[in-house]
Amino acid sequence: MSRGATAAARTGSAHRAAPADWAAIPERIRRSGLRWTARRQVVLDALAATRGHITGSGLVAACRAIDPATTPSTVYRTLDVLEAIGAIAHSHGLDGREEFHAGPARDHGHLICSACGSEQELAAPDAAVLLDALRREHGFEASLEHLSISGRCAVCAAGAESSGTSAAEAADASGLQP
Ligand SMILES: [Zn+2]
Ligand SMILES: [Zn+2]
Ligand SMILES: [Zn+2]
Repeated sequence: MSRGATAAARTGSAHRAAPADWAAIPERIRRSGLRWTARRQVVLDALAATRGHITGSGLVAACRAIDPATTPSTVYRTLDVLEAIGAIAHSHGLDGREEFHAGPARDHGHLICSACGSEQELAAPDAAVLLDALRREHGFEASLEHLSISGRCAVCAAGAESSGTSAAEAADASGLQP
């Protein structure tokens, strides 16, 4: 089976964050020889209660709602551990800030509108043509979950068209952030 076919077989599983996945994480971390503490469990609980994406500072706030004694260093160290075992992934917003995918769901990229700031998930099947071309032409395995494409959403692109912004200007405002 080709790599492309394997990638295709993995698509369509954008959000598979079953509660069981979260419950199994402490054991996975202990098995890899790392410590799991009550403070870290607070971070996991806050992530499990989050839908979509959350920034580090957003997560600190969510943790403090559960346990006011939570420190940012605990949150960031726990995020590092969770990312190291592949339980979570991050991408970047327009300002470069890390945004964490809440849920062990990884198969999507991000479309971020630089005009209105709206964010959409780019499903793996929609990104397959681009990822396959990078693999074929460059031998490059792109990280879909880390991919953010800035540009204009459909609403803002339509608005720009009617206000006379040229397609070249609109293209100029877009960029890739692999
Ligand atoms: Zn990054
Ligand atoms: Zn995401
Ligand atoms: Zn927009």
